[in-house]
Amino acid sequence: MTHTRRSFLQYSALFGASALASPLAGLAIPPGDKKLGIALVGLGGYATNQLAPALLQTRNIELRGIVTGTPSKIPVWVEKYKIPEKNIYNYETFDRIADNKDIDVVYIVLPNSMHAEFTIRGAKAGKHVICEKPMAVSVKEGQAMIDACKQAGKQLAIGYRLHYDPFHLEMMRLTREKVFGAVKIVEASDGFRAGDPAQWRLKHALSGGGPLMDVGIYAIQGARYTVGEEPLAVTAQEFPKTMPEKFVDVEESLSWQLYFPSGAIASSFSTYAAGVNRLYAAAEKGWYEVNNAFGYGGQVGRTSKGPMEIKHINQQAAHMDGVAMSIINNTPNIVPGEEGLRDMKVIEAIYASIKAGGKKIQIG
Ligand code: NAD
Repeated sequence: MTHTRRSFLQYSALFGASALASPLAGLAIPPGDKKLGIALVGLGGYATNQLAPALLQTRNIELRGIVTGTPSKIPVWVEKYKIPEKNIYNYETFDRIADNKDIDVVYIVLPNSMHAEFTIRGAKAGKHVICEKPMAVSVKEGQAMIDACKQAGKQLAIGYRLHYDPFHLEMMRLTREKVFGAVKIVEASDGFRAGDPAQWRLKHALSGGGPLMDVGIYAIQGARYTVGEEPLAVTAQEFPKTMPEKFVDVEESLSWQLYFPSGAIASSFSTYAAGVNRLYAAAEKGWYEVNNAFGYGGQVGRTSKGPMEIKHINQQAAHMDGVAMSIINNTPNIVPGEEGLRDMKVIEAIYASIKAGGKKIQIG
C-alpha cells in the first residue's frame, strides 16, 4: 500500500493544515481500499464518549464489534453504531473473536489491572491490540503483553493519543531540532479532582495506583519526549492526604524528579485533589510550553518567541488511524508496547523511591 498524494490531501482536509508538518501526513488509505475493523473491549466513559465518536471520523479503521460485561448497554450501541449481533461478545465469550474475520484489532479500554489479561487473550485470538494507558499495573505484566503480541505476530499499540497531537509533535520538534538550544529543565504536571469515591480508580486492585498511574503517566511521557532522552534515575515524594477517607487505597498527591543523561531535570506533580495540566521546557536560549497540555483538546501552545499557531485535531481519530496505517503497511507503530513499558519502569521507580523515603532510585 503506498501513500498517495490524494489520500494525503484528504487527511489534511480532515485534520487541518497541521497534518502537513506532522508524521500524520499521508495516513489515509486510498478510497475504495479495505478499512480495518475494530472491537472496543469495555464500554465505559472513554470508549463511549471519545473512542466510538472518533471512529466515525477515522479513514482507515471502523467500529465493527463490542465486548461488554453489561448487557443493558448493547441496544444503545447496536442502534447507534449498527453493530451486528455476531460481533457482540462478553468477557467470557471474548476468545471466540478469533473466528471473526470482521475484527482485525481489539482496543482494551478496561480498568488498568485487566489490561494484561485482555491484551494477551486478544493476541492469542490472532488480533492486533491497542491497549489503554497505563499499559499494565507492573513491568512484569507489560513485558508479558509485549511477548504475547510478538509471539502471535500482531502489533501492540498503547493509547498514547498525544503522540499524534500537533501541539505535542511541535514540542518534540522544538527539542529534536534544538530550536532553543538544549533542554535543561522540564516541568510536567497532570492532575484532576477525582469525584466518585466508589470508582475503580481509587481501588488499588483495579488501578494499580493513584493519580500517577492514571494521569501522572502523561507527565512522565511529556518529560521524556520534551527532554528527548530516557531518564536514568528518579527521586519522589508522596504528600499527606487531605481526604484520607477517600484515598484509602491509593496516593492523593505526589511529585517526582527525573534525572536525564545530559544533566536535564524534569520536575512533575500529579494529584487527584485539583486540576493541574502543563508541559513546560526551559532550554538554553528560550522556553516552550503547552498549557491544558494533556486534555483531549484545548491545548494552548507558546514559546518565548510567541504563540504556537496550530490547529486542534481529533486526537483519538488520528491515533487510531495512525496505528491502523502501521498495521496495513506492516510497519512499526509509533506508540508500541515498548513505549508503554518504559513508563511502567519509571512508575515502579517512583513508587520505590517513595517507599524508600525519597531515595534516588535508578530506573531499570
Ligand atoms: P470507566 O470507569 O468509565 O469504564 C470502565 C469500563 O470497564 C466500564 O465499562 C466497566 O463496566 C468496565 N469494567 C469491567 N470490569 C470492571 C470492574 N471490575 N470494575 C470497574 N469497571 C469494570 O473508565 P474509563 O475512563 O473508560 O477508563 C478505562 C481505561 O481507559 C483505563 O485504563 C484508563 O486509564 C483509560 N483512559 C484513557 C484515556 C486517554 O485519554 N487515553 C482517557 C480515559 C481513560
